[in-house]
Amino acid sequence: MKNEQNSENTSQELVSGRIICETGTLFEVRGEDEVHRVAVGRSLLNEVRPAVGDWVTLDENNERIVAVEPRKSEIVRQAAGNRTKPQTIAANVDVVFVVTSMNQEFNESRLERYLTMIWNAGATPVVVLNKSDLAEDPQDFVDRAELAALGCPVVPVNALEDGGLEALRAVMEPDKTYLLVGSSGVGKSTITNALVGESLQETAGIREDDDEGRHTTTNRRLIELPGGIGSLIDTPGMRELQLWDAEDGLSETFADIEELAETCKFRDCQHESEPGCAVRRAIEEGDLDLRRFSNYLKLQRELEFHDKKRDVAATRAEHRKFARVVKEAKAAKDGKVY
Ligand code: GDP
Ligand code: ZN
Repeated sequence: MKNEQNSENTSQELVSGRIICETGTLFEVRGEDEVHRVAVGRSLLNEVRPAVGDWVTLDENNERIVAVEPRKSEIVRQAAGNRTKPQTIAANVDVVFVVTSMNQEFNESRLERYLTMIWNAGATPVVVLNKSDLAEDPQDFVDRAELAALGCPVVPVNALEDGGLEALRAVMEPDKTYLLVGSSGVGKSTITNALVGESLQETAGIREDDDEGRHTTTNRRLIELPGGIGSLIDTPGMRELQLWDAEDGLSETFADIEELAETCKFRDCQHESEPGCAVRRAIEEGDLDLRRFSNYLKLQRELEFHDKKRDVAATRAEHRKFARVVKEAKAAKDGKVY
């Protein structure tokens, strides 16, 4: 197993393999000849939490992960609950398939949201328009998706039909790692099953229970797809992704708006009522969709909100650290040992 990042890496001989499965605190690392079940080395504990897709180095006994290669891309989501600490769910994903369907579920603004997040994660989005059998005019959906997803490939498919995924397979490459995202019910499992074929059943069979006898059906894992069309990171139970730190992604997804904004008369134009606003003019002349512009503003506000929330979390952490230092200093003065 080779990847670009690996072959460029000067410490190549040290990389032991790639994480293909995550079960609580244990990881499976696929090396050259075998799969190792390993834990995270002590020295890494406060550094980075390894994730499926990571290229890692193991200790000499192949028992612990001692190093994680810098990630080419990182798919994160907000941890459960209201904490703002992001959680890495997949590393080194090349292409994310944004699955949507040709029915009422289809929504341009949601698509833009996904694209923003994916660009920012360092991966490339591809829009997969499923359920072409349900649409009277599939091309209409393709046109709408292409407008919202400027420059991204849009692939219409029918996951239920024999051969209905050929267009998707045609864009897949052997050395790439793929991930599917999308709302519930759009056909992610159906597509995954079709791409994976027999091997998913096998994989699921082996891993039905973990060492403690618990069901581990929500495991994330990396599956090598039959037919040489790459690897897929399967993340059952993954719900809609939340935006996280997606500023760069916003510029990619809305490159048309940012380009227009550069031609506004005022550099700091808010595109509200300023004279010479190129964005407003484009909307009035029908060159820019008002919905698209509104969504751009909405995502921008959301990102600012996240930034603030994160600042608050960081400040709290600082306070706690400070409180601990004070407590320790006080204890030292009192002659107590903690
Ligand atoms: P997920 O929640 O995204 O994993 O969606 P599923 O794969 O579970 O699919 C949800 C439903 O849509 C199931 O009843 C599938 O059989 C159905 N479905 C999936 N792909 C297609 C398709 O191309 N056409 C039609 N008509 N139904 C589909
Ligand atoms: Zn303007």
